Amino acid sequence: MTNTIERTAPPLSYTGPSEPSSWTTYLEQVDRVTPYLKGLARWVETLKHPKRAMIVDIPIEMDDGRVRHFEGFRVQHNLSRGPGKGGVRFHPHVTLQETMALAAWMTIKTAAMDLPFGGAKGGVRVNPQSLTQNELEKLTRRYTSEISIIIGPQKDIPAPDVNTNAQIMAWMMDTYSMHAGFTSSGVVTGKPVHLGGSLGRVKATGRGVFVTGREAAGRLGMDITGARVALQGFGNVGSAAAELFASAGAKVIAIQDQWGSLIDERGIDVRSLASATSGIAGIGGSPNLNDAFWDVPCDILILAALESQMTAERARRTRAKLVLEGANGPTLPDADDILADRDILVVPDVICNAGGVTVSYFEWVQDFSSFFWSEDEINARLDKLMVESLRKIWACADRNKISLRTGTYVIACERILAARQERGLYP
Ligand code: GLU
Repeated sequence: MTNTIERTAPPLSYTGPSEPSSWTTYLEQVDRVTPYLKGLARWVETLKHPKRAMIVDIPIEMDDGRVRHFEGFRVQHNLSRGPGKGGVRFHPHVTLQETMALAAWMTIKTAAMDLPFGGAKGGVRVNPQSLTQNELEKLTRRYTSEISIIIGPQKDIPAPDVNTNAQIMAWMMDTYSMHAGFTSSGVVTGKPVHLGGSLGRVKATGRGVFVTGREAAGRLGMDITGARVALQGFGNVGSAAAELFASAGAKVIAIQDQWGSLIDERGIDVRSLASATSGIAGIGGSPNLNDAFWDVPCDILILAALESQMTAERARRTRAKLVLEGANGPTLPDADDILADRDILVVPDVICNAGGVTVSYFEWVQDFSSFFWSEDEINARLDKLMVESLRKIWACADRNKISLRTGTYVIACERILAARQERGLYP
């Protein structure tokens, strides 16, 4: 095996020839890992082709009597190691390509954590804030009904993602169950607790960001107490991570959300923000500070918004020493190189935000056994699994003198492609 990388152009039906997208970011990440895969590199093309992608039309009758059509997707990127696993996103920018990338990152993430799952993702192109509760329920149920032929507790298990939550999972579980003719709680995770949901699931992704951040800070000799934290994104992931960092004595000095940015050297009270209905704008944040956010002197930068936020230009500007990827795909490949050249440590999404899917796994196991664990037990198991996974990844990165991201891909791709090889091609 030589170190030459064979680049495969993404199939044109998925992406335009020169259009930058999360899928092309993902393909580049796969190219970067290929030289380290030895004999398994033979199978690497597997990772560049989603196994199955479904596009669905979702017509719903709006409250004013009009019929509107929405476009939805479910992509199963790889199922070599087990059923598909991954969230469902409701957002106006959802596309097939984005869903493909998000599904692929789930394949890497579940393998990096050694969970017995493949990777999948779904989404509907919609601004859920523009829908009434009744319309949102109809949209969710019709989407579930359309994808019900490819999901199931042993086939593919959706979960919450951007703009979806436990209520939406309850509607998905109910719709699937009504078609099946019995209650199937294991078909989705992230459900309400009394419907078979797991304690600790809501804050699990943020908790995982904190755990991996704590470990990485330890490696850098950085004390969390007094560390200055800048945070992009104050949704489910960002808010939970911010609270845990604040409880550990860190000072959250800058927050950016979709409405603006707030910068305060004295520290922001993240608990008061959690109850502010209009986000950052409600406690004095302003869109005028959005650019200045990237220059704030800080120790830790948490990216917990959407994809492609860390551009090359921002990577040159950031003054953080440690970047934690709470979102999926927030860093572009050229920005990754700049951060590495500047000795800024990046804990990549595929391990940093894996806390959510790990507790989803716990939920799925609890549903199957109908035996439920305490929140302390869940948090302790999550902490242990994440620390063990991160240590293995770090050892691999040190051994090969590669970034933590490529190290995570080496560990994950070895597991996926070994399964691929052992199963063989059939039919
Ligand atoms: N949406 C989350 C993620 O991107 C969780 C997925 C899951 O729990 O299946 O990791």
